[in-house]
Amino acid sequence: ADCAELDARVSVCRACPRLVQWREEVAAVRRAAFADQQYWGRPVPSFGPPDARLLIVGLAPAAHGGNRTGRIFTGDRSGDWLFAALHRAGLARQPTSVAVGDGQEMIDSRVVAAVRCAPPANKPTPDERNTCRPWLVRDLQLLRPTLRSIVVLGGFAWTALWPALRAAGYPLPPRRTPFGHGATVNLAELRIFGCYHPSQQNTFTGRVTAPMLDVVFARAMEHIAGV
Ligand code: SF4
Repeated sequence: ADCAELDARVSVCRACPRLVQWREEVAAVRRAAFADQQYWGRPVPSFGPPDARLLIVGLAPAAHGGNRTGRIFTGDRSGDWLFAALHRAGLARQPTSVAVGDGQEMIDSRVVAAVRCAPPANKPTPDERNTCRPWLVRDLQLLRPTLRSIVVLGGFAWTALWPALRAAGYPLPPRRTPFGHGATVNLAELRIFGCYHPSQQNTFTGRVTAPMLDVVFARAMEHIAGV
């Protein structure tokens, strides 16, 4: 399967009962309140070309962001921060990501979520994280020929990534590196970078700033350029 087929297949997944119910409930309520809004209300596929050298791993779609627009980090505050940073780094065509059809395009990079359905309170359970892992594994396998850097947004995605990398055939280092902003792991031809999630809470409190995001993406691209 190629990336387009993978994206199509994930968008009809119903493996997590709690998340299926939540994503559809949110969509139904909002659809009723805003008749002019199209609510996606389904799993949100990855976004970006199949031969990307950089992968960005987020947590899960936001109830009124990706779950509404059908595109990851699109139509919510975290996405505003992320796409502004990606654009500054030359990794996204436009500085904003508003809706499918806005002309936004990833450049040499692909964005995925560790869990592809919007969870209540932005908190998937460990079971849901594990159930969704095969989708992440498929993304890693498809990208493997070109993939050189991974930027991991937040501790949840950091935890989700390692077993997925192992399942995709990467030899894991014997010791786990704890998540932190600036944490770096070398794995075969890959370099993996920890980055605080640009969630509203983190950006609002200044835990993560635009220059902090810029440094991480610059380091990820330096590695790509150097391999
Ligand atoms: Fe399927 Fe993942 Fe959504 Fe669960 S979270 S229903 S595994 S796409």
